[in-house]
Amino acid sequence: TRENRRPGRHFLQIPGPTPVPERILAAMSRQILDHRGLEFGVLGRRVLSGIKGLFKTQSHVIIYPASGSGAWEASLTNTLSPGDKVLMCETGQFAVLWEAMARRLGLETEVIPTDWRIAADANLIEKKLKADTGHKIKAVCVVHNETSTGCLTRLDEVRKALDAAKHPALLMVDAISSLGAADLRHDEWGIDVTVAGSQKGMMMPPGLSFTAISAKAIEASKAAQLRKSYFAWDEMLALNATGYFPYTPATGLLYGLAEAIDLINDEGLENVFARHQRLAEATRRAVQAWGLEIQCRDPKYYSPAVTTVVVPEGHNADAYRKIVLDNFNMSLGTGLNKIAGKAFRIAHLGDTNELTVLGALTGVEMGFELAGIPHKKGGVAAAMSYIAETANAVKAAA
Ligand code: PLP
Repeated sequence: TRENRRPGRHFLQIPGPTPVPERILAAMSRQILDHRGLEFGVLGRRVLSGIKGLFKTQSHVIIYPASGSGAWEASLTNTLSPGDKVLMCETGQFAVLWEAMARRLGLETEVIPTDWRIAADANLIEKKLKADTGHKIKAVCVVHNETSTGCLTRLDEVRKALDAAKHPALLMVDAISSLGAADLRHDEWGIDVTVAGSQKGMMMPPGLSFTAISAKAIEASKAAQLRKSYFAWDEMLALNATGYFPYTPATGLLYGLAEAIDLINDEGLENVFARHQRLAEATRRAVQAWGLEIQCRDPKYYSPAVTTVVVPEGHNADAYRKIVLDNFNMSLGTGLNKIAGKAFRIAHLGDTNELTVLGALTGVEMGFELAGIPHKKGGVAAAMSYIAETANAVKAAA
């Protein structure tokens, strides 16, 4: 409302949805078009072909008018049958939710637990698969970037685990918060189903999800007996072949998607990943300088998209977040499930740059002061030093 307007811009530093660049907002601000007409076919073909590059795949990517959870459901119902066993790793809250969904759909789940401070451990996956001599496990499901903890699974290692165990299970990956932020190689890593969303690294509003599917997954879908209709791949694949959809597509969002793909390709996919890595490292240096703990306890699994920060015992992370919001107009991510109140999240995901991250870190550091959270000074300064040291201009001048 008028009364509530705050000057300047809101710092939306949550790990999705993330701020949308002006070019994408402008691209979506267009009149509706006939989704069966010729003009739509051009748009449909453009996005269906363009999105493949971001997954590094030659196979098909389905675009659903649904949040990531819709594509999660589609990944399971299109490939599996009632009672099938799936192996999952409880890396954090999003793994918990995917597992709960699998059970509700009638699947049997076997869960590899973690302490929520590392990503999926490929060695443990390999062990489980080797023990499964009867090949009861039909799919291995892992979350690439666990958005709740800030831990990134090494998918290349998970692939090797399946190969080493000579296990035929499908490999399914939740890349909802990693697409457009962390390297993802659907084909090279032999992933069968990769699921992603629009509202994170893709810098778009919420509302679209993506599913890259391998030939093996399509084969599995022919025998899969779990019920589906709206999310069934077969009709989608048939209509997508000419750039159309079996039902009314989210035309406005698809205009935005075309622009988002262009934006990422203009910057260069590898440059996008490098930018995320650099801003993530700057953030971690700040946290370390403050003397606080990063939820991800093994650097091997550090996320380029989000850093989850543990708040010292006796302090409430959500009370702290409220102080930051009230004073500095910045939204930080809340701690989820078993780390609720104990941790908060700083996103460095999507349309971010050096100064947005430094601005965010400044608000974080001042918030500690206001909330009385014990910390050392100098986090922002440490991040600034790292950013300055790694700046291209500085390198060029040296
Ligand atoms: N998986 C991960 C890793 C996520 O980060 C999220 C959302 O934050 C989801 C799944 C659920 O996606 P959505 O909220 O778009 O349905």
